[in-house]
Amino acid sequence: MSRRIAVVGGGPAGLATWQRLRDTGHEVQLFDPEPGGLMRTIRHDGWIIEAGAHTMATTDAGVGAMLRALDTDPEESSVAPRTRGRQVLLHGRPTPVPLSPGELVASPLLSMRGRLRLLREPFISAKPGGDDESVQDFARRRFGHEVAARIIDPIVGSSTGGDPRQLLARVLFPQHVQFEAAGGSVLRGAMRAGMQARRRKGGSSMPLSSHTNGIDWFVRAVLRQGNGSVCREAVTGITFSDVDVTVQWGDGSERFGGVVLAVPPAAMRAIRVVGVDAGQFEKVATMPCASVASVSLGYRREHVTRPLTGGSLLVPSSEHLPLLATFSADAMFPGRAPEGHLLITSIVGGVRHPDAFRDDDRTLTQQVHAALAGAMGLVAPPAMVHVTRWEGAMPQPVAGHFVRLAAADALEAGAPRLAFAGGWRGGMSIGEAMASGLRAANRLGGTMPA
Ligand SMILES: Cc1cc2nc3c(=O)[nH]c(=O)nc-3n(C[C@H](O)[C@H](O)[C@H](O)COP(=O)(O)OP(=O)(O)OC[C@H]3O[C@@H](n4cnc5c(N)ncnc54)[C@H](O)[C@@H]3O)c2cc1C
Repeated sequence: MSRRIAVVGGGPAGLATWQRLRDTGHEVQLFDPEPGGLMRTIRHDGWIIEAGAHTMATTDAGVGAMLRALDTDPEESSVAPRTRGRQVLLHGRPTPVPLSPGELVASPLLSMRGRLRLLREPFISAKPGGDDESVQDFARRRFGHEVAARIIDPIVGSSTGGDPRQLLARVLFPQHVQFEAAGGSVLRGAMRAGMQARRRKGGSSMPLSSHTNGIDWFVRAVLRQGNGSVCREAVTGITFSDVDVTVQWGDGSERFGGVVLAVPPAAMRAIRVVGVDAGQFEKVATMPCASVASVSLGYRREHVTRPLTGGSLLVPSSEHLPLLATFSADAMFPGRAPEGHLLITSIVGGVRHPDAFRDDDRTLTQQVHAALAGAMGLVAPPAMVHVTRWEGAMPQPVAGHFVRLAAADALEAGAPRLAFAGGWRGGMSIGEAMASGLRAANRLGGTMPA
């Protein structure tokens, strides 16, 4: 019987699994035609373009320890964003999101009525809305309509590509839902948790950051350590038997003792899986997933008369634009654009505009430029364009999500040679995807001798 383990999918989840399994003495083979997943940095002609994620953070001790152990390259170092400020596009104008109670009082983002409604939250009786309460319903119930529409809608829309009317509060804001259930108020719970976190400062978590040469530092660091065991192929089939697992791709196949499936649900649909409960697998693989395009535009500095002052500009659905958000790369990190230039990256599409990501590069560029021209004072077309399409990359935790998660648990329970990992399982961020990867490694690695 083979003791080797196959990891299918080399995004943050799969790479974390692969790294942990190798660290614990297992023989592992990674399958991915383009390892890195959404941690993809493009470097050319002085531009450092994040085609997917820009920053990451974690509160998971295991992930924090893994990242610190890998962060040894003297050529580059971890950098925190220069600004954590966010703006919301409100009636075509970038408007800062208040970060403190003082800023809130003066913020034009909320009307006086909206601010008073927000401040009443601690006195509004708790009526937890159940597993299937949407983010929008939760936010409206606790904070009022304006906060839901002008703050929560653009934050959630840009980070998930989804619709806050359908996404589940319990998945996206588990802590906040818990604050209400346990103490009756989200704001009181958040303040208490903030004070406790400050006291614990310096612990095992890793604050929001990237690296000087881009977020793909993690991918490069992991690949450097195990390059010989990477098969740059898309897996097309996985067959489980009583004694092993056969992984198939293009014109090859190989037997393993176990497999970690670390691809997003949309990508599972292209893999023929045999020997597990097909109905349960179907439930996992049909989890809805949104698609987006990431449109990076480089401008000459003098052609941007009103650069963004925060790291990101979030776009609420009420603006009726195909844009979900725009990130100002060089407002966040130094050295992302050649001398005399600015780099911005916009996320287009998602559930709001499901087909927009398919538009050709020219159309996407024109749409983004037109949408931002007024807000940023753009007076000439971009000098550099780079577009990446991410089809089905953003899993959507909507009604039925917990049934799908239970199906994944049941599949693992029935097939001890299988473990799942991925952002869809444990959260929506890179840190959470990595944490799910470590859990999968512990699960499968623990049942198989190294
Ligand atoms: C545009 C965008 C920006 C984001 N920005 C941030 C951010 O700034 N910070 C943050 O924390 N999170 C961000 N996220 C979310 C974050 O990127 C995801 O939560 C995370 O990447 C999920 O990791 P994963 O490993 O589950 O999947 P992925 O990153 O999607 O990786 C899946 C991997 O599986 C591979 N694969 C697919 N099919 C097969 C197959 N058949 N065989 C072998 N391999 C296969 C793919 O090539 C890919 O490498 C962003 C998401 C998007 C879409």
